[in-house]
Amino acid sequence: MAFHRCPDCGVTMEVTTVRSSDGFSLRIDTGKRDSLLGKLGVGGTASVDAICCPECGLVRFYADLE
Ligand SMILES: [Zn+2]
Repeated sequence: MAFHRCPDCGVTMEVTTVRSSDGFSLRIDTGKRDSLLGKLGVGGTASVDAICCPECGLVRFYADLE
């Protein structure tokens, strides 16, 4: 993943894993299940990566579109 800085603190944000309490990784609905390219796979969902700011706790999500 690319290098990220917190927009509020300017410190480097750390990659983390976001899961539900029962251990499933989170996915987002891409809304593109009818895509002709089929790039996003069956069901139109994508996994997400998260980065967290160690200073203020801001968390950002990035969809894994590959
Ligand atoms: Zn921050």
